[in-house]
This record gives sequence, C-alpha cells and structure tokens, in this order.
Amino acid sequence: MDKLVSLAKRRGIIFQSSEIYGGINACWDYGPLGVELKRNVKEAWWRAMTRDHNNIEGLDAAILMHPNVWVASGHVAGFADPLVDCKSCKLRFRADQVPEENLRDHKCPNCGGELTEPRLFNLMFKTFMGPVEDEASIVYLRPETAQGIYVNFLNVKDSSRRKIPFGIAQIGKAFRNEITPGNFIFRTREFEQMEMQFFVKPGTDQEWLEQWREERFNWYLKLGIRPEKLRFHQHGPKELAHYAAAAYDIEYEFPFGWQELEGIHDRTDFDLKRHTEHSGKDMSYFDESSNERYIPYIIETSAGCDRTILTLLVDALREEDAGKEIRTVLKFHPDIAPIKAAVFPLVNRDGMPEIAHKIYDIIRPYYKAFYDDSGSVGRRYRRQDEAGTPYCFTVDSQTLQDRTVTVRDRDTMQQERVHVDQVLNFLRDHLAW
Ligand code: ATP
Repeated sequence: MDKLVSLAKRRGIIFQSSEIYGGINACWDYGPLGVELKRNVKEAWWRAMTRDHNNIEGLDAAILMHPNVWVASGHVAGFADPLVDCKSCKLRFRADQVPEENLRDHKCPNCGGELTEPRLFNLMFKTFMGPVEDEASIVYLRPETAQGIYVNFLNVKDSSRRKIPFGIAQIGKAFRNEITPGNFIFRTREFEQMEMQFFVKPGTDQEWLEQWREERFNWYLKLGIRPEKLRFHQHGPKELAHYAAAAYDIEYEFPFGWQELEGIHDRTDFDLKRHTEHSGKDMSYFDESSNERYIPYIIETSAGCDRTILTLLVDALREEDAGKEIRTVLKFHPDIAPIKAAVFPLVNRDGMPEIAHKIYDIIRPYYKAFYDDSGSVGRRYRRQDEAGTPYCFTVDSQTLQDRTVTVRDRDTMQQERVHVDQVLNFLRDHLAW
C-alpha cells in the first residue's frame, strides 16, 4: 500500500486533500492522471448499464434532498454505527470491528485500557439550508445515491414510458461521517457511488438477483481484475439489512484483507413502500401484462467508484525484474488506462520531432495522449509503464524512409511497426471507445 500511495502521488493520480494545510482526514483529490482514470471507470460502468442493456435509463439527482427522504429511508433513525472509546489511549473503534472478547471484557484492542459502552453515532453530514440555522432548516448531504432514484421512480417511468422490469442508473457523490476511515481511498468521508436500481415484479426478484450478481462479478473480470482476487460473500441472517431479502457482496483481496467492493441486494418493496407512506404519493405500478397492481421489488447493484479505482490500482501494480532494474508497471486494462498513447521522437533532430508532433496531434482529439522527447527512449518507456500507458509510438530513422513507426506494447514490451496513417486505426482496434 505504501508503494501505491507514493506512486499515486508522484504520478498525479491521487493527492491528499488540502495537503498544504496539513491535509484533511479521509478526503482525497484526483490529479491529472487520476481524473482520467476515474472518468474511464465511470464511462465503463455507464456503458455496461445504459448501452449494453436496452432497459436501463440514467439519472443525475441532487445531493441535497428533502429531509423527509432520510426519515422515510430509515437513515435518520438508523444510519448509525455503534462506537466504543478507549478511556486510556482515546482511540475510537466501531464496535462491530472490535474482537468479541475485547468487547466482552471492555478491554481496548490497542492498549488494553478500559472501553466505554457502545454508543450510536449517526453517519450523516448535516448542514443548514437558507439563512437561518435552526432545526427546521437542517438538510443532509446524501449518504447514498439510491434514494434519488427511488423518489424519481414515477418520473423516470412515465417520462421514458418504461415497463417493468427496468432499471435506473446513477453515478454521484455520497458522504458519510465514517468513524474509522482509512486504507487510502478504501473508506473515505466523501466518495462516489455507481448505483443501479432494477425494478421488478415481486416473485421474480430472486432470479434477477442471481442474474445481476453474476453480471456485476463479470464486469470486474472484464476490466482485467485477477479472478483469484475476487469472491462473493453472501450475507447471513444476522448481517442482512432490515430491508433486504438477500444480499451478496463482491469482495476483493486488498493488501489489508478481503473487503467489500460492491453490494448486490434484494431490497424487496421496502423503499417504494416507505416513500409511499411518507410522501403520500402512490408509488405502485400497474402491470398491463398481468393486469395487476403492485409495489415493485428492487434489486440494487451498489458499487463504489473510488473503491473500484483502488482495486484497479492494487491489481494493476506490478514490479518486474528487468535485468539491471525493477520495472514498475501499472497493467491497467487499456480501456481504463488514463493515457492511451505516448508519442516519442527517437532523437530531437532529422525531422523526427515534426513527424512525432503530427502523430500526437492526430491522436489527441480522440484519445488522451502524451508527447515526450526528454531522456533516453528506455527512460521514456519506463515513465509510461508507471502511468499504465498501454501503447507507445516512436518515430525513428526508418520512419523517414517508409513512414512507419514502432508501437510498443506495455505488457509484452514487444514492438511492431505501423504506418503513420494507421496509428489512429490501431488505437481504435485496441480500445472499446
Ligand atoms: P461498510 O460496511 O464497508 O461501511 P456498507 O455496507 O455500508 O459499507 P454500502 O452502503 O452497501 O456499504 O455502499 C455501497 C458501496 O459504496 C460499497 O460497496 C463501497 O464500494 C462504497 N462505499 C460505501 N461507503 C464508502 C466509504 N466510506 N468510502 C468509499 N466507498 C464507500
């Protein structure tokens, strides 16, 4: 993890938020390469949802919502983690993360000191809307994006004339005042979720849950994550959220252990029922095919964008023995790599820079590209390996004779020659978009 965090900073992938002021805990900024990576991850997810399927619509709801949304959802009453504090070392723990024997004996797992009784702590960030800071003007920063989808169920259904089964996909920020944030971008207080809520007829929910959990698992495989590092964890009866009939987590084996990456839940009719009760607006659905009225069941796929990025970084980072030195390489799937192509003139003379600049200008409007003419070509390849750039094009003396350039593959380090006019086609053939 230390290597990854320092590489991420050095190469402009992820910076500590407000670093010059000493940083702010559990908030991170995406740098020039990180923002490209993040956009690509979101694009891959968005395409998988709204292009690969013909029954999923998109949505972008506001972060601030009517406070009653969070009463209806159960977050005001129940979105709390039980906490224990150590009276000696003052460390604070989530009670569900303290080993049982420590909790029973009220002994701190860090220093052996005395622990307090567990206390509930609400994870929602509060703020005030309007000029008056009183109880009546409290609003929350959303702790999940899902509720924006539920409250728009009727709007999306009616405006897009959708029939059940159909889904609504949304990517957006969520905020949780986590007690024990950490492990870099694994658990942060501001993060982005990629959620899809699929509305189905009651009774068909189990089938859809199976279908979605398989599809979501395969999505990570398609992005090149090593299969042996991924697994399902099915929630046992004690773990299941009060609203869920069944739930699976997709877990990844991080350097700090197996942890949840995405949740796939059968949320039953809980959400639409609650919003019907609290808003007074009937959220039932009339099914013309069976001539029945019912409240749809919801299958939710809830992924963390930042957590996916951490997974991709951890999984891609390799250190290879390259003879005299260690080659550090980020083996990103080409579709998510921040920079798709680098262009080098072998030397800065004989007209090579002019040709290289032309190639760079051809690629640049379509794909994030990088021009580099400093240092030996070996050094330039290494720099691109570290950034995860899948293809490097080099203009050399043969280019001057036959207008071909070398293209070097990041993973195999093999080179082939392509015609200057075919560089863009080469990239199109190797990239999904
Ligand atoms: P945990 O038990 O780890 O706190 P959770 O079960 O509450 O997580 P969900 O509410 O199911 O998580 O959230 C769905 C997804 O959102 C998670 O799988 C994760 O990828 C992401 N996520 C949740 N909380 C955070 C966070 N604090 N930082 C980054 N990503 C998060």
